[in-house]
Amino acid sequence: MMEPAGGPRGSGSGPETSTAVTGGETPTATAVAGDGESASALLDRARRVAESVTDPELPAVTLAELGILRDVTVQDGHVHVTITPTYLGCPALREISGDLHRQLREAGFADVTVHVQLTPAWTSDAITAEGRRKLAVAGIAPPRPAARGPVPLGLPGRRDPVACPRCGSADTTVLAPFGATLCLALHRCRACGEPFEYVKDI
Ligand SMILES: [Zn+2]
Repeated sequence: MMEPAGGPRGSGSGPETSTAVTGGETPTATAVAGDGESASALLDRARRVAESVTDPELPAVTLAELGILRDVTVQDGHVHVTITPTYLGCPALREISGDLHRQLREAGFADVTVHVQLTPAWTSDAITAEGRRKLAVAGIAPPRPAARGPVPLGLPGRRDPVACPRCGSADTTVLAPFGATLCLALHRCRACGEPFEYVKDI
């Protein structure tokens, strides 16, 4: 870490690569942090580790896919991770921070600071397409994209119906405004009768 890293190719914000790290893939070539690694390689690796950390409440998706992960930088071997919680005071925040610390440490990064950034606030639009797909596969209805709705139900104050992740029916009803976590609501499908969780729009 105290070596004059060869190619300083943008020390802070490299090219914004949106490579979705798929779960099964194990990143190869894991060198020990600072062991002859260039600054950009170090940053790449730290970013990959941070991106692959899953959400403790929605383990089907990663922090990157949820849009919680805002930034990863490395300064003199010290990793700074910036996250934005889905909800103010989201109880998972401490767990997320702990997971980031642990997994980065296991990857050879001893010094890690997790910063919490509240503005701009997280919205459900920050969830990536891959994140939405994975949530649906896990039986959790992803939030509806903002300002798009071909089927108005005619209910005042409501947006499009939440489609059932199992059968796709729009004939669903809210069972409880809060599911297992603050970020989830419990719905039930009238077509197939199955209850399901839904990531609330914000
Ligand atoms: Zn259904």
